[in-house]
Amino acid sequence: MEPIIYFDHSATTRVCPEAAAAVQKTLTEDFGNPSSRHLVGRAAADLLRSSRAAVLSALGVRDGAFVFTSGGTEANTLAILGRAEAKPRFAGGKILTTAGEHASVEQPLALLESRGYEVVRIPVKGGQLDMQALEAACDSRVFLATFMTTNNETGACYDIPAAAALVRRLCRDAVIHTDATQAFLKLPCSPLTMGVDMMTVSGHKIGAMKGVGGLWLSPAVVRARALSARTPGGGQEDGLRSGTENMPGIASFAAAATAGKAHFAENAAKTAAVRAYLCDRIQSDPAFADVLLHLPAVPAPHILSLAVRGLPGETLLNYLSACGICVSAGSACSSNAKHAHASFALLAFGLSEKEAGSTVRLSFAPSNTKEEADRFLHVLSEGLKTLYRKG
Ligand code: PMP
Repeated sequence: MEPIIYFDHSATTRVCPEAAAAVQKTLTEDFGNPSSRHLVGRAAADLLRSSRAAVLSALGVRDGAFVFTSGGTEANTLAILGRAEAKPRFAGGKILTTAGEHASVEQPLALLESRGYEVVRIPVKGGQLDMQALEAACDSRVFLATFMTTNNETGACYDIPAAAALVRRLCRDAVIHTDATQAFLKLPCSPLTMGVDMMTVSGHKIGAMKGVGGLWLSPAVVRARALSARTPGGGQEDGLRSGTENMPGIASFAAAATAGKAHFAENAAKTAAVRAYLCDRIQSDPAFADVLLHLPAVPAPHILSLAVRGLPGETLLNYLSACGICVSAGSACSSNAKHAHASFALLAFGLSEKEAGSTVRLSFAPSNTKEEADRFLHVLSEGLKTLYRKG
């Protein structure tokens, strides 16, 4: 049996050795509660402080607050519902977002919509934010703009600096948030260079444990108290997220972020090389004539979305899985949804329902190799001969 090929690192990835060591230490040695006043508690508080500093450094910022959460989902909820509830005058106000955000952004927005807020979803055909539509949607009622940095299904990277600059110019009350869950440490995405006020990141996409992530807040957001708490209680995390801190998770996040920062350029180059190799081979070999690559205007280095015409994505996923190759169809996080529907992100990208239904996502880590890509291509070409029937 050949070793498993894991091309699903955007769903989650293995904990890196640095993070695993940090977890072990907090479980067995540095086990204190950062709120305790004694020396064991103070050591935990020191670890919390240094972990926060490590994540800030990986984000390329010195100032502002970083609120540790249970992951990207909770950070997005805090950013969106926390902002909407920050001031009574925002009730019924306007929020700008992109068409095809992750469910953890889309669902809180849908909730606000049901409570009378207006949500404008800016088109992202071909993986590009429609700047004219964005400009037309900007006005003084906008109190929040939330645009993901990198789409988890297509790998499209949006021009957040331009969008943020436009919103800042035309919407004086707007706080600008980006969900950088799929971008953090995969491509340059510091909140400072992007010009955003809040940024979501998640640990388990970068080699930390599952169940940890966080939200960066700019100094201006902190000063203006522009966000209300979603989890009242003991006042941890500057009162924005009460509850005893998940120290194993937080320490693992800091360790993975530090390692990811140190190896950023080489890691991005490695994933980009595997992606480029697959694209070249698929485009140049007639055996793959029925494979449609979804190529965004600006692609992330680690995500490749493709469809086999006429073949359901689920069928392809199951076939590949039976051959020891792991990819995803749609977003892994939404595959539990009660009512299956074509992915909004893929439709917003410009795919037909059929193409969307035939789509699988490959996502890479630096550990993936050209040899694995070759085996994938071999297995795919064999599958095309047996599974594929022209409809
Ligand atoms: N946003 C995006 C773009 C994601 O891809 C994910 C995870 N698939 C999340 C948010 C949610 O992150 P978490 O799993 O840490 O809650």
